[in-house]
Amino acid sequence: MTAQLNPRGDVAVLVPAAGAGVRLGPGAPKALRLLAGEPLLVHAVRRIAAAPSVHTIVVAAPATEVEAVRAMLAPVAPVTVVSGGAERQESVAAALAAVPAGPEMVLVHDAARALTPPHLVESVAAAVRDGHDAVIPVLPVVDTIKEVDATERVLGTVDRSALRAVQTPQGFRRSVLVAAHRSAGDALTDDAGLIEKQGGAVMCVPGSELALKITRPFDMALAEHLLTTGA
Ligand code: C5P
Repeated sequence: MTAQLNPRGDVAVLVPAAGAGVRLGPGAPKALRLLAGEPLLVHAVRRIAAAPSVHTIVVAAPATEVEAVRAMLAPVAPVTVVSGGAERQESVAAALAAVPAGPEMVLVHDAARALTPPHLVESVAAAVRDGHDAVIPVLPVVDTIKEVDATERVLGTVDRSALRAVQTPQGFRRSVLVAAHRSAGDALTDDAGLIEKQGGAVMCVPGSELALKITRPFDMALAEHLLTTGA
């Protein structure tokens, strides 16, 4: 059954899903790889659609897969599908341009974080609603982190207590994200980075282990296991 989105919701979620997924090995674009028999993108969209604040979902699909992605997601939730770009930032910009009038908040969520629970969408949105222009979910860093030079010689140990691993969805007041994309320079790997570069404040909220980014074959195996435990 297709999930209904909330017409009174105040959140649009953009899902850049146009990456090739080279680190997963040869095969379909990453968002379309199967996890327990369903594409990663289907898992991701199903969980976003279950978050009560979500009014609109816009997916940026690989240019050659737009129709296929539309057909694939139609039974899952009402979504708008646009063609993504060569860089993630271009895919996000294309999705942002397709958000209808209404939602005052925009969250940007990687399709590769397919098991992200709906409550994380809600907690990021709540922090933006509380007045933060830009909000990112984070986890503490558990490994010791070393800085190295080009020859792999250790230069020093970084104080990990001041480091955070960053996840998605990243949440923004809509006008702030639109302005950041309008004046964006070099492509960055996340959207909060655009705000930081332009001197804006970015606030952290607790992330979720389930929001892991499925990047390598090991992550896919871990995600399969997590699904069997009810993720
Ligand atoms: O490459 P990376 O793992 O950082 O990609 C993060 C997310 O951005 C993935 O969901 C991927 O599909 C998406 N992406 C995109 N357009 C690109 C590159 C990546 O939508 N050109």
